Amino acid sequence: MSYKTLIGLEIHVELNTNTKIFCGCSTEFGKEPNTQVCPVCLGLPGSLPIINEKVIEYGIKAGLALNCKIANKVNMDRKNYFYQDLVKGFQTTQYYNPLCENGYLNIENEGSNKKIRIKRIHIEEDTGKSIYDKERNILLDYNRCGVPLIEIVTEPDINSSKELSIFLENLKQIIEYIEVSDCKMEEGSLRCDVNINIVDENNNIKTEIVELKNLNSFKNAIRAVEYEESRHIELLKYKKIGSKETRRWDESENKTLAMRSKEDALDYRYFPEPDIVNVLLNEDMISDIEKSLPELPHDKKIRFIDKYELSEYDVEILIADKKIANFFEETLNYTKEAKQVANWITGDMLRRLNDSKIKIDNIKFESKDLGELINYISNGDINNSTAKDIFRRMFEQGERPKVIIEDLGLKQINDDKELRLIVKEILSQNQDAVNEYKQGKDKVLGFLVGQIMKATKGKANPKKINNILLEMVSKA
Ligand SMILES: [Zn+2]
Repeated sequence: MSYKTLIGLEIHVELNTNTKIFCGCSTEFGKEPNTQVCPVCLGLPGSLPIINEKVIEYGIKAGLALNCKIANKVNMDRKNYFYQDLVKGFQTTQYYNPLCENGYLNIENEGSNKKIRIKRIHIEEDTGKSIYDKERNILLDYNRCGVPLIEIVTEPDINSSKELSIFLENLKQIIEYIEVSDCKMEEGSLRCDVNINIVDENNNIKTEIVELKNLNSFKNAIRAVEYEESRHIELLKYKKIGSKETRRWDESENKTLAMRSKEDALDYRYFPEPDIVNVLLNEDMISDIEKSLPELPHDKKIRFIDKYELSEYDVEILIADKKIANFFEETLNYTKEAKQVANWITGDMLRRLNDSKIKIDNIKFESKDLGELINYISNGDINNSTAKDIFRRMFEQGERPKVIIEDLGLKQINDDKELRLIVKEILSQNQDAVNEYKQGKDKVLGFLVGQIMKATKGKANPKKINNILLEMVSKA
């Protein structure tokens, strides 16, 4: 048997503009219900929407980052349907002329590259939210009405849950890099619907497309896809094709459940939105936005490997979050040790950030401090285990490494003159050991080093101590 999974995605991304798509209401998340609404975002009769320029700019940014062709004008359409959280009775979206079309995103799966085509990206408004109370009453919060969204639609080019996972991670990373959304799935800033069906290539039949909705995390999207794959294959074994329907993932039962039969586009009776003026887009505007795009994750990865001679593994960790990548490069303004910086960031720093659930924005020390710490290590002023203690204090209290070292008197003793005085003192206190050494018992050297370390609280440079001791013990 040969089965092929076909997955296409519809991803809704809430744009992080300050105001809504057609009015000046705030988009801030988590405010008292129905405090951020006006006649325009509720679509009350007589109100007139005006399109937010930032939404167009952000939509174009996303389109360019995903290699799309940008339209030459923006016009909106009405998608007519009745739903309790859509007071207008229609959603203002783009149907006939999406802002961006025909793009792609390259993904890398086990060393081989694959192009996932982006069919379109359009801009639209979000709907309100229904909340069910204990008595199963429906409460409606319209704060989210009119929050700007982009909808990213892919071709059915994803063929496995593994590819799905890589695609979603890459897409999220790009959206975060271009800073058009915070991509918080838990707050609904990034929502993904999956269309899936399976082709039985031997018998040349395929199952009907099923739409999976309400997937509130990548993990659930992947589990739902895996569940559907086996459900569809089971159907195909009996030459059944299932039905075209919308299903949801039930987290507690670990399975998908049918919600409703899937609507066709025809049901929505789309027509051009008459109340919103078309906006013409010229080449200059688009090229200005293109110039404003930051370095994207893939380019950053190649540059980091090349410029800093780091492993692909290290670089992938560093670039996963743009802010971490920036912190890495900032630190290199204060030290030349790229590999050391990468090790400290991917090791101690990320571990402590994860453990304490702190975001890098709220970290207590600066890139300059990490650079300074690394210089102390490479100059031989402190050893690695001391450095780890200092780093902990930097992380917990935000103290400067210089201050911690002075405070604790941690600096390694490297001065030859000072070391000679210490060695001399120890030798005179341990004349017996010196005599034993002279009788050929080399082992006592270890004892003498131990005494020196004890006297200096471990701060004597061990390499220098060995040399000085060897030289002085025979003369003592
Ligand atoms: Zn409003």
